Amino acid sequence: MTDTNQQLFDRARAVIPGGVNSPVRAFRAVGGTPRFIARAQGPYMWDAAGQRYIDYIGSWGPMILGHGHPAVVEAVQRAVAEGFSFGAPTEREIELAEAILALMPSMEMVRLVSSGTEAAMSALRLARGATGRRHIVKFEGCYHGHADALLVKAGSGLATFGNPTSAGVPAEVVQHTLVLEYNNVAQLEEAFALHGHDIACVMIEAIAGNMNFVRATPEFARRCRELCTQHGALLVFDEVMTGFRVGLHGAQGVLGITPDLTVLGKVIGGGMPLAAFGGPRAIMEQLAPLGPVYQAGTLSGNPVATACGLATLKEIARPGFYETLSAKTRALAEGLRHAAADAGVPFSADCEGGMFGFFLLPQLPQNYGTVMTSDGARFNALFHGLLDRGVYIAPALYEAGFVSAAHAADDIGATIEAAREVFRTL
Ligand code: PMP
Repeated sequence: MTDTNQQLFDRARAVIPGGVNSPVRAFRAVGGTPRFIARAQGPYMWDAAGQRYIDYIGSWGPMILGHGHPAVVEAVQRAVAEGFSFGAPTEREIELAEAILALMPSMEMVRLVSSGTEAAMSALRLARGATGRRHIVKFEGCYHGHADALLVKAGSGLATFGNPTSAGVPAEVVQHTLVLEYNNVAQLEEAFALHGHDIACVMIEAIAGNMNFVRATPEFARRCRELCTQHGALLVFDEVMTGFRVGLHGAQGVLGITPDLTVLGKVIGGGMPLAAFGGPRAIMEQLAPLGPVYQAGTLSGNPVATACGLATLKEIARPGFYETLSAKTRALAEGLRHAAADAGVPFSADCEGGMFGFFLLPQLPQNYGTVMTSDGARFNALFHGLLDRGVYIAPALYEAGFVSAAHAADDIGATIEAAREVFRTL
């Protein structure tokens, strides 16, 4: 098969490692040829061969309004005409900061950056700088971008800290990163008992979207908060994915937990490179130029990206936005569950706001180890079955999915029908 996508993939692989600029796009887990996207509108994307897909990736989260929302396009076009980048402050940065803070009560100040990786890395440095401590706690299955200190898997025990998950990360660089099991309260308590005096922060995806979709249990989230407070560590919610996605106030709003620092990305840029981190004034004022924690960026607060983010936030703050979005996402999850049950396929699904996850497992998993017991071959068959029927879900079983405001009942219905057909073949 040498269709247009295959030809482009061959050309891409000659000049770009793996043919892609971010690994999961290469379809390595599921096999087959990645689709090269030519354009997108509303809930749809079209590949280079002209095939249309209902898009449940939404650029991995940002496209909550769907593609090409008229108000966003207009705001971006206006901003482009005024200038691409100045390297000097703009009024629009203040407007975006004000809009974010108005929706996230835990944040008193915010700094804008260009990617989730940068935001999480900076929040981590700030947490260490503000507390004067070395250790950080993260959880297996949570992803916080690819800063060296965060590319870590669990060590052999609580005393040994983590091991790098990437070549090029010296063991010394992750020697202060403790990786614990998600939703394991006893292990968290033990870690604090052993190392609490030197833990700068606990970083968590409170609704995890990088091991498909796994919620922190209310008890686990509460213990994260209590133990941090008790031991003088900062609780950092990585809401790059969940911020303005699971609800207007993020996972912290859903769980009713106030973190010290929040990391944002994806939706706040509306599809342009923009991310942020923020928290209480006293902590944020530790950042340069006021404080000793260095952080900077040539394109930070970019005028076109902030225009895109502002226009997006304006739409999602409209009354009823998340009610409508949640109802659609729930209808999708429900429909998939029924279709799988009718075909006798073990299946579980969960969702919050415009984010969902499903598993070819009879029960929702609580941690990464259980997620990875999923049948990979079966997932791959489901993925390709859906793709062949014009439904584009994430090409890996450990990724969450996203519904946008542009998805109509017909799109959801067509997706469930496609899944019904594929489930019968599994
Ligand atoms: N944190 C979380 C929770 C994420 O999901 C991601 C990206 N998927 C990141 C951080 C990193 O963001 P970026 O890809 O923009 O660097």
